[in-house]
Formats: sequence, C-alpha cells, structure tokens
Amino acid sequence: MEAHLTPFEPTRETMTQTAPITQDVMTIPRKQAEGPINLVGLTRERMREALIAHGTPEKQAKMRVNQIWQWIYQWGVRDFDSMTNLSKTYRKELAGHFVIEIPEMVSKQVSADGTRKYLARIAGGHEVEVVYIPETDRGTLCISSQVGCTLTCSFCHTGTQKLVRNLHAGEIIGQVMMARDDLGEWPRPGEGAGERPRLLSNIVLMGMGEPLYNFDNVRDAMKIAMDGEGISLSRRRITLSTSGVVPEIAKTAEEIGCMLAVSFHATTDAVRDKLVPINKKWNIATLLDALRAYPKASNSERITFEYVMLKDVNDSDEDARRLVQLIKGIPAKINLIPFNEWPGAPHERSDWDRIQAFADIVYKAGYASPIRTPRGEDIMAACGQLKSATERARKSRRQIESEAGLG
Ligand code: SAH
Ligand code: SF4
Repeated sequence: MEAHLTPFEPTRETMTQTAPITQDVMTIPRKQAEGPINLVGLTRERMREALIAHGTPEKQAKMRVNQIWQWIYQWGVRDFDSMTNLSKTYRKELAGHFVIEIPEMVSKQVSADGTRKYLARIAGGHEVEVVYIPETDRGTLCISSQVGCTLTCSFCHTGTQKLVRNLHAGEIIGQVMMARDDLGEWPRPGEGAGERPRLLSNIVLMGMGEPLYNFDNVRDAMKIAMDGEGISLSRRRITLSTSGVVPEIAKTAEEIGCMLAVSFHATTDAVRDKLVPINKKWNIATLLDALRAYPKASNSERITFEYVMLKDVNDSDEDARRLVQLIKGIPAKINLIPFNEWPGAPHERSDWDRIQAFADIVYKAGYASPIRTPRGEDIMAACGQLKSATERARKSRRQIESEAGLG
C-alpha cells in the first residue's frame, strides 16, 4: 500500500552541532545563566522558587504556581497574556523573566495506518522523533528521552548514533504537548477538561534513548504528565522501557510509579551480551533479581518483557521454554516484537510461523504473549527505527560491532 505522506521537508541545513558527549555527562543545567527561564518542565516546587526569585511575593507563590500550571498544562496556553486570572501588571512581569516553550515540530509524516511521526527540534538544533499511534479506543505517544543513545543494541537504529545529549524535562513533556497541539486535544474555551475521549491516552518511553540514563529529567516530566491539575494521565498509562539499568529500576517504582517494560530479548547471557550489550554490566540473573524486587509488580501491574524476534538468533522453541523458566514468579506479560528492519541492519525478522510457535509456548505457560503489530513501517516510525537527523554523530560500524561483541 502506498504510504500517505504529508509534505515532508525537514530542514537539513548544516546545523551547528555540539560535539558528542560521553555517557558521564548526563545533565545539562536547566537554567541558562542568562535569558528567560522556560517554565515548561519545572516541577511545582522549582516553579515556585523561580517565581519567588523573580519578584513574586512568597505568600502568593503557591497560588500563582497553581494558576500558571493550569494554564500551561490544562489549557495548553503558551503566552502570559492569555492568563486572564492574573493581573495585567503581573502578566507583564512574568513575560519579562519567563517563557513557555516546547520543542518545535519541524515535520510530520502520517502513515497509511494513521500513525504519525513527528520530528521535534530542541535547543541546539538537535532533533528527536516522536510517534503517535492511534488505536480504536485509545492513542499512545512514544516519546524520546535522549538524542541518540550511549548503548549499542545490535538490532536498534538509535543504537547506531552516539549520544548527543539528554533531553531536559521540558523537552520530554514538551513532546506530549506538541502532540496534543497537533491532535487538537487541549480543551476548547467553554469546554471542561476531560469532556472528550482522549486521543492521547497513553505514553510510552520507547523512543530514542535509554530513559534510566536520564532519570531525573524523565521523572520530572512524567510527574508533570500525571499531575491531576494538568495533563492528568494515570501512572498506569505511562510505560517506561529500559534495556536493564539495574540500579535505577527500584527508583522507577518509588519515584515515578509508572509501569515498567524491559528489553529482554534473549534467554542466555551469551546471546544477550551481543544483542543488548548492557547485559555485560548487569546480566540476566542480576536483572531478574531487580525485577523480582520491583515494588509495584503485581498481577494487576505486570512487568512487560519486550522480546524482539530475530531470525535464527533468539527465536527457537528452546528459547521460548527458557524464557518462561527464567521469569517464573514475576508477574509478567511478554510482548513479542517482530523485528523492524532498517537499512544496513544486521538481522532479519523471524518468520511468521516461528513467531506464532514461540508465542504459543509462552501462552501455554500461562503468560499473555501479544505479538506487537508493527505500526507506521512505511514511514520508519516503528519501534527501533527511530533516528535523529544528527548524522554526524554516527557511531562507526566497527564500534557497534566491537561493543556488541559481534566483531
Ligand atoms: N532504550 C529503551 C527504550 C527505547 S527502545 C530500551 O531499550 O528499552 C523501545 C523498544 O524497542 C525496546 O524494547 C527495543 O529493544 C525495541 N527495539 C529497538 N529496535 C528495534 C527494532 N529494530 N525492531 C523491533 N524492536 C526494536
Ligand atoms: Fe538504546 Fe534502547 Fe536502542 Fe538499546 S534498544 S540502543 S538502549 S534506544
């Protein structure tokens, strides 16, 4: 079927790029030394402090945060002049110190199946991809947490790019706001919040990057998404996917409280070392211990095990049996992802019969084993096909192969 594409002219002009940074340089200061402060992405407490630092009397600050918060996150307002319950003088003062900014949508592609892929430009000219997947009774937004990724999973397109930088909390929640703009989902004047069914009802942190290597910003952004006076998504409608950053897993439950997905993908350390090289640091047994201890795991809040189906690599009946043995005792569901190909990928998708046979074994062992239908493949919007325009920061094939132990 022909892909339905909207005019797509991403600007690929030579961008000034900062040099790629290493894994250790994790957080860019939120406040710049000069220039206005962006209110988007500040926690309530940070916003309060910022308001006080710029002249709001301490006694009023909490109320002002409430008012401004509702304008930004409940009504989608981006300028202080529209905040009509604030005095004109105060609005002017705010405009002198602060801005309300989200990433700029530089392009949008719409797949034949309705999936939308956006390219969002963030400060510094970098770009990240954001994907909206409509379903009959809901819609999921797949957001990015980093530009590129420090990890080098062999089957993942993002893994071919170096990490350029972590996204700030405002750039993470800003992707949700950008999608709501495009979907026309902010309440209209006179309309109560929550009157229409939600188009964007779920968030998955499954775009570019490893969210647990940018923990604080991801946490702050998701707290904003869950805040009942704003975007107001339940914590159960947010899923964070990690490749297995073990020390941060318990913190995810404690400090964010969202649902957890784990990129499992293999049933022996030898294979997982190659597919998900972080396994060399925290192997399968260590990862499973952390998951067994995940405070939120229960039958109603199961951990999702993501398992990409790669032909002749991890898709045998034996693998399926080992998988169910390994995860015994963990409230889990297993999400089988047919591999999404990308140019130059070193793997092939497993045959359909093989995927089905694998799913049957897992299902018979008592686990839900949905096969994820690839969405938006015609626009390279499917899982693991995302890639920023930051071409210059590409890793060399040799680096990927040696880090993944394939060389
Ligand atoms: N860094 C995080 C989240 C982003 S990747 C993580 O690794 O979990 C989101 C999911 O897509 C992961 O399960 C990842 O393993 C999977 N994925 C990556 N590339 C893929 C591809 N080419 N085909 C299918 N799934 C892929
Ligand atoms: Fe990074 Fe996740 Fe891709 Fe691995 S699968 S390279 S962790 S984005």
